[in-house]
This record gives sequence, C-alpha cells and structure tokens, in this order.
Amino acid sequence: MTAQVLVVEDTPANMKLVCMLLDKQGYRVLQAENANDAIVLTQQHLPDLILMDIQLPGIDGLTATRLLKQAEATRHIPIIALTAFAMKGDEEKMIAAGCDGYIAKPIQYKNFLAEVERILAASSQQEAP
Ligand code: MN
Repeated sequence: MTAQVLVVEDTPANMKLVCMLLDKQGYRVLQAENANDAIVLTQQHLPDLILMDIQLPGIDGLTATRLLKQAEATRHIPIIALTAFAMKGDEEKMIAAGCDGYIAKPIQYKNFLAEVERILAASSQQEAP
C-alpha cells in the first residue's frame, strides 16, 4: 500500500501544487485547510505523514503539531513543517513543537520529494519490528 499523506495548507495555489506533486508520485493524499480539520482527519485516518503549513488561520501549524505530538494515538506520525519564513530561530521552534523536518516555500520539487521520501523511510524503519 502506498503511503497516505495529509497536506495542511490554507493557500489554494500551494495546496494544489503540493497535492499534484504527491499524486504524481503515487501517494494517497488527504487535504485540510485549517488545523481543526487536520486534527480530525489525522485521528480518523492516521496518515503516514503530515505536511503542515505553519501560517494557518486560527490555530497555527506549530500549535497543531504540538497537539498531535501530545496525543498517544497520533504522536508517531511524522510531521514536516511547510514554512515561508525559515529564519534564524525558526528551525529550533519547529523542532521544539515536535516537527520531524521542514521544507521552505517556495517549494523546489526535487528537494520537496526527497524530504518526503526521507522522512517516510526513517519513520517506517522505526516502526519495523
Ligand atoms: Mn498558510
């Protein structure tokens, strides 16, 4: 079974691009436009990976990450932050919130897909018996 990826992104153009790239690679894709929907979808589907936009209306991506990483049922799911503002100190904030990696926007296709594959591979190794 191919991996299922939840994309959390409030900007339609970014959502469209990310989903298109993932779909083209054969991943199964779920979409959420805000943190509340992301948390509900995560609980329902337990995706293999979450791509989390940091700047979201309402609950931001770092808070959503923290909530998912605090919950027993969802803490094992790797989360990659999508951020337009990777500045000094931001990486530490993302790691502190529980993010397993981050991808800077605008997205560079090859780097993006390589990071997705890297995190999925690392995560499946951890789950192996
Ligand atoms: Mn956003």
